[in-house]
Amino acid sequence: MEIKKLYNKRPVVIAGPCSAETEEQVLAIAHQLKDQDIDLFRAGIWKPRTRPNSFEGVGSVGLKWLRRVKEETGLKTTTEVANKTHVEEALYHGIDTLWIGARTTVNPFSVQEIADALQGVDIPVMVKNPINPDLGLWIGGIERIMKAGITQIAAIHRGFASYGEKYYRNKPMWQIPIELTRQFPELSIICDNSHICGRRDILGDVAQQAMDLNYDGIMTEVHTNPDEAWSDAAQQITPKIFGELVKSLNLRSGDASKVLAQAELDGVRAEIDILDSQILKILEERMKLVDQIGQYKKSNNIPILQAARWNEILDKSIQKGAKKGLSEEFVGSLFRAVHQESINHQQKIMNK
Ligand code: PEP
Ligand code: MN
Repeated sequence: MEIKKLYNKRPVVIAGPCSAETEEQVLAIAHQLKDQDIDLFRAGIWKPRTRPNSFEGVGSVGLKWLRRVKEETGLKTTTEVANKTHVEEALYHGIDTLWIGARTTVNPFSVQEIADALQGVDIPVMVKNPINPDLGLWIGGIERIMKAGITQIAAIHRGFASYGEKYYRNKPMWQIPIELTRQFPELSIICDNSHICGRRDILGDVAQQAMDLNYDGIMTEVHTNPDEAWSDAAQQITPKIFGELVKSLNLRSGDASKVLAQAELDGVRAEIDILDSQILKILEERMKLVDQIGQYKKSNNIPILQAARWNEILDKSIQKGAKKGLSEEFVGSLFRAVHQESINHQQKIMNK
């Protein structure tokens, strides 16, 4: 099925408040964003809040405000839809692009209801990643929208919830969107740095990381009075600061195939390929040793998991890795994967 790039440009810049609060607030923000070269003005009308008793959006009346934004500023508009009625009302009021929120993407019934309401409609649709790090669920949501005949589809990466995480509001887990774009190279991918960060100070870093990974654009929450916002106050920034953030981005728009240093790049890539083969060879040899240990444990009826030994390996490796400039997160997940594979090997031997 055909997928077309969203607005066919890079970067696609989407900005506006988390929530439409009042007609004045929406218009004031839109007028300030009008001169910032943005492609889409965002504002949530129906807000899926985690806990009740938070501001749950102004509802349908906000659609009239977005229509005024369009009439007065010429900006295209987008809002979140979570069911059939939202889709119908948004289409009726001339919203230009729809997005499906993270709490909706998790539910195939809801996404299918939205897809059914979009049959035969020609409008761009953006699908946020589900709250949980499940690539299949994200792809499933995108496929349901594609099957409805929508051709301009973008994925919005807004990070994944994880218990105890403090640095980010939602961990980016970049490997998930990277795998998504590997499987769907034509899909536009937009970084929602606001919901990944949950705070202002690192919005620029995350947006730049997205550009380094060749993302198509960003979606950022912008408010004329961020501290007083009725939702997500801690992560919103003023139109002026947003303008500076966009200007500071290095789009890394050089074309790898045209770069003069291509030969050099090829040389380095060849070296990387050799090292990658060596990594696999070393892992093969490691697993052969693990198999010997498996035999020994089997003959002596010793359990596979020796927690003390495993802790020692992990701690030692993290310490050694840190000295080599490798992050704790990387070394930890690498060794956890190696350890799991070792257990699998031994289980096969023990239970033969
Ligand atoms: C939002 O964009 O304001 C929003 C509710 O986002 P998410 O679905 O990513 O939580
Ligand atoms: Mn928000």
